Amino acid sequence: MGLTLTVDGDRWRAHLREVGDATPGLTPVVKGNGYGFGLGRLARRSAWLGVEAIAVGLYEELPEVATRFDGSLLVLTPWRPFTPDVDPALADRVIHTLGRVEDVDALLERQPRARVVLELLTSMRRHGFTAPQLWEAAERLRHHRGARLEGVALHLPLSQGSHLGEVRRLLNDAVGAGLPGPLTVWVSHLTRDEMASLRQSYADFTVRPRIGTDLWLGDRSALRVTSTVLDVHEVERGDVFGYRGRSVPKAGHIVVVSGGTAHGIGLESPMGASSLRDRAATLARGGLDAVGFVRSPFSIDNKQRLFAEPPHMQASMLFLPSGARVPDVGELVDVRVRYTATSFDDVVLD
Ligand SMILES: *Cc1c(COP(=O)(O)O)cnc(C)c1O
Repeated sequence: MGLTLTVDGDRWRAHLREVGDATPGLTPVVKGNGYGFGLGRLARRSAWLGVEAIAVGLYEELPEVATRFDGSLLVLTPWRPFTPDVDPALADRVIHTLGRVEDVDALLERQPRARVVLELLTSMRRHGFTAPQLWEAAERLRHHRGARLEGVALHLPLSQGSHLGEVRRLLNDAVGAGLPGPLTVWVSHLTRDEMASLRQSYADFTVRPRIGTDLWLGDRSALRVTSTVLDVHEVERGDVFGYRGRSVPKAGHIVVVSGGTAHGIGLESPMGASSLRDRAATLARGGLDAVGFVRSPFSIDNKQRLFAEPPHMQASMLFLPSGARVPDVGELVDVRVRYTATSFDDVVLD
């Protein structure tokens, strides 16, 4: 009855298999809201895929995945001195990311046998060592005999042209820093061709692609998001409705559907230039958003409908102009969402 993600299980699993088969070293990323599916479900799916390691975003996410997947657990957020110690029962499975010189000693003094990857600063400039810092980190690492180096990590921007030049430069830095080989490279956002090319040029390296979106959400045709019509009210022009006591600009129906701010509805990207142009055109025609109605992510009869007012916590009010088919209470309505920013009330996998 709430906001529901329905998954065509056969199709979804076929896609996961396809990505798994095409991606040696695949490291599924299982973080945040679990890409809409939930962390636990994705951890179990990763076990089913037979991968050796998964990546979580935060240390806080470890408990939820660790009981459902029994391989290695890479934490993408770099370790800091204020990171709480991990549960000793997980210490041998967790791979820490290091990205600052001082954190090499700080972590390894606390956990002398820690498994670590060294993150290299890419053109993203989020976290990681520059080439001279990597040199120094490698030097410090040599003083910690028990440390287990699990490779280097590169987080690349979403593809705009080829990443290969940047990756080659960074890998040469890693070799130059004297890190003991053969190195494992944990990497994101490479195309299949780029991965193949990398494997060819660095045949002695192990490449471990970290993939979230293209794995879990790569086949959108397997996914359907729906809400339910909860109420319908016929209104005449001038009738008052909503929290703000606005009046209806013309006759039609107020349709109340499940799904609101608590689910992440309405927190969409601002209008792009093209929708601004659309809006100007509608204004010129005296259309409904001329009176301030904003397009909603809910579709009735394949037409995206307007919010009568901003979404409420658990429900949203839509305005349906007269002439449109009026849906029945209980009918399902399609919703366009950002999966990584949506909490579903229910995930139905068949
Ligand atoms: C989130 C994340 C990924 C996965 O990104 P997707 O675009 O979902 O595939 C990979 N690496 C790092 C470091 C990340 O933070």
